[in-house]
Amino acid sequence: MISSIANTLLSWYAQHKRTLPWRNTHDPYAIWVSEMMLQQTQVNTVLPYYERFLEEIPTVHDLAYIDDEKLMKQWQGLGYYSRVKNMKKAALIVVNEMNGKFPSTWENIIRLPGIGEYSAGAILSIAYDLPYPAIDGNVMRVFARLVNEEEEVTNPKIKQKMKEVIKKTLPPIRCGDYNQALMDLGATICLGNGVPKCGMCPLNACCKAYDQGTQTLIPRKVPKKERIIEEWMILLIHHHEKWLIHQRSSEGLLASMWEYPMIPIGSQKNVLSFCESFGFIVDSLHPARIETHLFTHKKWIMTSWIMKVTTDKVLPKGYVWATLDDIHEIYSLATAYEPFTHLLLENKVVERLK
Ligand code: SF4
Repeated sequence: MISSIANTLLSWYAQHKRTLPWRNTHDPYAIWVSEMMLQQTQVNTVLPYYERFLEEIPTVHDLAYIDDEKLMKQWQGLGYYSRVKNMKKAALIVVNEMNGKFPSTWENIIRLPGIGEYSAGAILSIAYDLPYPAIDGNVMRVFARLVNEEEEVTNPKIKQKMKEVIKKTLPPIRCGDYNQALMDLGATICLGNGVPKCGMCPLNACCKAYDQGTQTLIPRKVPKKERIIEEWMILLIHHHEKWLIHQRSSEGLLASMWEYPMIPIGSQKNVLSFCESFGFIVDSLHPARIETHLFTHKKWIMTSWIMKVTTDKVLPKGYVWATLDDIHEIYSLATAYEPFTHLLLENKVVERLK
């Protein structure tokens, strides 16, 4: 079974592969960009970002020296911002320590920030046709079903066992195509959310789960942890055609992204205390929209307050007054705050403050 998987999948891939822009190149930089963007993110979401990113930042040298704010703007909306911060750190290493040449060996590529075993295998196999596997959750699911693995594949022992099985299937050449065929099979046929399309699967003749009718039970689901709920008040503070925004800490969730000021849930009194601490005189104030945002482990419930203030005080470090054009073009606000920017863009929102 193992020896025929690669041949079968490569033939299937030749006919059914998805047309994706990063498949028209062997440039390791472009493939790296695509792999970083695709982590935790759907292909359709990535497509416009990928093309724009390569237009604006076409080489690893450009990435190493790009202004941080411009870089974050390119990533705005993709989430998981540590990915792009690591990319810049990695680009600096490539430029300063590797003569600007993207590494083509396991030892060098795995040194780069943000590149783990999956990404290293994907880049080396796709860009250089080297025989490394690229094993992510999708590939693990396909193989768990092929061998009818009944234990949880997140168990380190089982994971290691599955990796050994997958490695044995690698073809000596066209390993990049093989890895991409597995990715496509996992994304389009051997589905994780929803029923796998076994009738259309090129591997159904050798799939033990299909044979035994257990394909929807495998891989065994690990119970999900409940998300922690946090409640915040978002302060939309208007002064002289501008809105107050704040740069988050360089550590932790949404590090270095911009936000509308936010304070733990409370009452109007807490909003007024915040304004007072900045020396703002509040001319008008009213509650606005409530929004929620889901992170992997957290749920934010955000109640917004919109207000107009008068002030001649200098802002503390990390705060700026920004027009809506500035917010659109210069500052990278995380997706969680997007509904509030839309609110501010609505007609008459400022008039209602008068
Ligand atoms: S036959 Fe079904 S379960 Fe098995 S690999 Fe194909 S799609 Fe997945």
